[in-house]
Amino acid sequence: MSDLLPLAPGALLFAAAVNSLVFVEGSGVLVVDTGLDDSHARKLLRALEAQRLTPTAILNTHSHADHHGGNATFLKRFPGLPIFAPPFEAAIIQHPLLEPLYLYGAHPPQVLRTKFLLAPASPAQAVAAGRVTLGSVAVELIDVPGHASQMYAVRFGDVLYAADALFGEEPLAKHPLTFCVDSTSMKASAAGLLDVPGVRLTVPGHGNPTENLTGLVATNLAAFGAVTEAVLTAVQDASTVDTALKRVCDALGVQMTTPSAALLNRSVISAHLAELADLGAVVLDVQDNELRFRAV
Ligand SMILES: [Zn+2]
Repeated sequence: MSDLLPLAPGALLFAAAVNSLVFVEGSGVLVVDTGLDDSHARKLLRALEAQRLTPTAILNTHSHADHHGGNATFLKRFPGLPIFAPPFEAAIIQHPLLEPLYLYGAHPPQVLRTKFLLAPASPAQAVAAGRVTLGSVAVELIDVPGHASQMYAVRFGDVLYAADALFGEEPLAKHPLTFCVDSTSMKASAAGLLDVPGVRLTVPGHGNPTENLTGLVATNLAAFGAVTEAVLTAVQDASTVDTALKRVCDALGVQMTTPSAALLNRSVISAHLAELADLGAVVLDVQDNELRFRAV
């Protein structure tokens, strides 16, 4: 864990397993993503206090538990602190059971209701993309859907927080099956970040800041494409999602050890299968009471 690292005037990074960003303008202090849990949030609050910074608003870039799990700790310290999120994601942050519910497809068993998939509820308000002022801090919110149903990257001056639209090189190498609910959008969102003008420094949601946005986008797009290829190969023989998941994990050297990892990766496979189906490269049909996917 670290303190707040200055990236640019008014832009601070709290580097952790999940990064938090702090953007300061006058008396405005916008905290972007609050981490997985109470522990992350308490360390972040201590770092803010050490610099005499009082948060004026929170932005959650998307609804995954590791990006808003610390909200409750902030609200305990600063009751009424406004929390903003993309509209679809705000609904999940207010009703966080939706995350394990959509991953599992039914009310999830206890083993899937851990802090990694189920954060405490918090009163997030919807904010539209574009140039906005949140807690007296002017930022640009950029739509980057795909990793989640909606997600915002955030530009503050020449700093771009890509949220989970881009992963750092290390986490990407460690987790080749990048989570997504829509792989088509995920690829378009990553490529679209190259069009954001005036970016000097890019910070991924997980990983280190870089001045090489072009290189990071290329690495991410190559990784996403490799998964699509592996999924297509996995359904050369018609298979269920779960069989395709096993084949892709074997091919990419992924070893799953928890039910939540299996469920998250299963969504990734489903997303790439949907992309391939919409491209006409894969068909779905039901045989012997199995929903099967098959390359054509
Ligand atoms: Zn995420």
